[in-house]
Amino acid sequence: MTVIKSVEVVPLKIPFVRPFKISRGYVGAPGQPGDHVYVKLVTSDGEVGWGEARPMPSWMYETVESVCTSVERYLAKVLVGEDPFNINKIHAEMERVLAPAVTTGMPFAKSAVDIALHDLVGKLTGAPLHALLGGKLRDSVEMAALVSGEPGAVAEYAKELRAKGHRCFKLKIMGDPELDSELVRELKEAVPEASLWLDANQAYTDFKLRLLLRRIAGVEGVICLEQPVPTYDFFGLRRIARVSPVPVAVDESLFSHYDLLKLVRFEALDALVLKVAKSGIRRTLKIYALAEAAGLSCLGSGMTESGVGLAASIHVFSTLDLAAPVDTNGPQFLKDLLVRGLGIEGARVKVPSKPGLGVEVDERKLEEYRVR
Ligand SMILES: [Mg+2]
Repeated sequence: MTVIKSVEVVPLKIPFVRPFKISRGYVGAPGQPGDHVYVKLVTSDGEVGWGEARPMPSWMYETVESVCTSVERYLAKVLVGEDPFNINKIHAEMERVLAPAVTTGMPFAKSAVDIALHDLVGKLTGAPLHALLGGKLRDSVEMAALVSGEPGAVAEYAKELRAKGHRCFKLKIMGDPELDSELVRELKEAVPEASLWLDANQAYTDFKLRLLLRRIAGVEGVICLEQPVPTYDFFGLRRIARVSPVPVAVDESLFSHYDLLKLVRFEALDALVLKVAKSGIRRTLKIYALAEAAGLSCLGSGMTESGVGLAASIHVFSTLDLAAPVDTNGPQFLKDLLVRGLGIEGARVKVPSKPGLGVEVDERKLEEYRVR
């Protein structure tokens, strides 16, 4: 029987080619690389499975150190000696050794392990990940473009991205109704035909948000307003969802299907954001199934992951019915994706067809970006 023999974590810093700012600070910028953790599972017969976590403590509490410790000290003992096909059992054990408190505990660390297990199972069976999930609905996945920054800078960059083929633009808004409405109008003018997806990353109160909604009333093509209020503010979400002419989507308020059930009962959302980085592959599918039953629209997004996390997301999103192009913006911001085998053309990523994630990690590059 094939069992997992070793678990290795590789903390990395990957440079940003351009600044990426959200309401909670910089995701990254030139000279300010992002933190990534690659997880490498090796089996007794030498097969390798890769996972990736993209900790960003200003977005959610996990850090590069906590991801490494979670995997090395706690999750590894669940994995070593275990059959990689026992993904259900491994998840149950991971919940036992790092127990959830209200919502998922250490979701990024567990997601990286979950991705690596699926990569392994795909390689051991010769099936690409999308096939393990029931099959892709399309051969490539369309990406939205991410724009953020000061008024003046956003328009030029948006036009550049439009020329590359992007038709949907995700705009990071900052929590200031005057500044944000200026950004929205500027973006609308720069790419009039595009759909606009606004993400506040928890920067508003529902009171202040109404001022923004009044200011952008009449701007055509705004498809949703993501996570306007803090992660825990289900009451604020409900008050906004009741009055907003723009659909309200949740991201930071939702990590698991348990969270979604509460949000549905609260009538606190119109749509939701799926991320493999925060929910792993299995839990993303559980959330999706519940959303489908509740008649909620789903959007796909990411955490500016490099190639491993991006490939996992593209496989998963290729199997789902999503309301807009996906916000997997690693290719836009990162100097390097660290893998071979990803076909990216303009705004589209080809769904890899080789076994597992279908990409090959460039281990020389891991050494180049590794943090010691
Ligand atoms: Mg978001």
